[in-house]
Amino acid sequence: MRLDTQTTIFMICFVYVMLHGAIWLALQEYRSHQVKLWCASGMVSGLAVILLAIRGQIPEFVFMFVAQLLMVLGNWGRMVALRMYLLPQPQNSAYRSYTIANVAYMAVFCYLIYVQQAEWEALMLFNGFYAVLCFDYFRIGAKVNRREASLGGRLLMWAGLSFSITLGIRTLGVWMAGTIDDIYSPSWHQAVMVFGQFTAITLSNIAFLRIFLEIEERKKMTTIRELAVTTERSENVHQNSLKLQELLQEREEIIRQLALFNKTAGMGALVASLAHELNQPLTAIQLNAELIDSAFTQDSADALSDASIKEAMVDLMKDNQRAATIIKTPRNMFGGGRKSLSSFDLNELVNDVLLLCKARLGRNLIDLELNLHPQPLHCTGDKSQLQQVFLNLMTNANDAFPSSHTSGKRVVVVRTELHNDTAVISVTDNGMGISPDIAGSLFELLRTNKIEGMGVGLWLSRTIVEAHQGAIHFVTSADKGTTFTVTLPVTTEPMVY
Ligand code: ADP
Repeated sequence: MRLDTQTTIFMICFVYVMLHGAIWLALQEYRSHQVKLWCASGMVSGLAVILLAIRGQIPEFVFMFVAQLLMVLGNWGRMVALRMYLLPQPQNSAYRSYTIANVAYMAVFCYLIYVQQAEWEALMLFNGFYAVLCFDYFRIGAKVNRREASLGGRLLMWAGLSFSITLGIRTLGVWMAGTIDDIYSPSWHQAVMVFGQFTAITLSNIAFLRIFLEIEERKKMTTIRELAVTTERSENVHQNSLKLQELLQEREEIIRQLALFNKTAGMGALVASLAHELNQPLTAIQLNAELIDSAFTQDSADALSDASIKEAMVDLMKDNQRAATIIKTPRNMFGGGRKSLSSFDLNELVNDVLLLCKARLGRNLIDLELNLHPQPLHCTGDKSQLQQVFLNLMTNANDAFPSSHTSGKRVVVVRTELHNDTAVISVTDNGMGISPDIAGSLFELLRTNKIEGMGVGLWLSRTIVEAHQGAIHFVTSADKGTTFTVTLPVTTEPMVY
């Protein structure tokens, strides 16, 4: 079969368009700018090759200038697309060199054709320029292969060699011929060049596709590895959060046990004060009952007036009520261990607890000063737990006066106040103050310097108060005593607790 040069050039164009089109279709779903640039540039080169094949059927200007320009653009685009494989290493200087080289080539080519009318020299320049430029395919392939062993990289090196060597041979052939009558005239160097073009175009397209897929594969593997790490991490987090939940539940249970334990420990001391406190209303009840009884048994002359009997009855009922309250408060406080939320008046809570503490204060010769805020202070929460907090502060205030502490009057001041939306209870004693060795860590568990102390009360008090969105603080000094302040939000809204 005999093929003329123009037909083989058409075939090159066919190979250009088919291969670049095939890659475009194959990699379409990646929506990659690099693929678009590579394929579009290949098509532009294909179009240039068509124009180069039909000299005589198109204006000479189109053959000489437009075809060259398209060739330059197509080649520039494909080389830029290949260089993108070397990113993120900066490629700007390479892009700049391509542009300068192509512009310079176009300028010299146009000069040779239009000014010098030197077609032979222009043909040598054309082949020589691309022989040198296409060597960059080889360099890019080598760099890709060096970065990560890559068959695509190696194929690109071969494509580069094929372009450069065969175009080099063609340049040499043209140079040796010394003149050119017809650029399509068949010659051995023309055949080498055409063969080299087929090989190089095919290899470069396979290489482009192969490198692209290798990189995608590596990305996929990295994503899979990252996914595995993330899955493992999220499993760990899940396990830890389960453990944390268990720990929190355990902590809640321990606090509940401690609260019960603390209550039981406080109960012994309270029994004595209870008996004492109950004594007073019970004696009054007894006296009033006797008075009423005598009114019914004595003569009408000594009989009490109806008004006096009514008064005695009212007193009797009041004392009965008071005795009931004295019993009810510890029963509420020490009964059960479960949370029960309610809305209550803080002043009332203070009064209820003080009923239990007064006797003990009296026995220790401690005066109680009570300054309650004139309005009710509505708080929401677990009343029995907050009663425990206040009782603990009162117990500590009571213990703040050791038997050796004789100087002056012993006073405990209990105060409730309202600051904006915050209710404040403070308990101030003029006792010995908090020992400096434990003052810094007073709210930690098991901090005590009492012989029978547990060192739980203040830790528990802070836990309870903070769970009620409040705070507890103290100021102390060795000669003036100690003030504990508890702040709680004033609200009748049910709180998240
Ligand atoms: P406990 O009373 O069982 O020791 P707390 O946690 O209630 O446990 O108190 C811890 C320690 O804080 C007490 O042992 C005491 O030394 C000190 N403390 C608390 N309140 C006062 C106070 N008002 N005056 C002096 N020391 C106090």
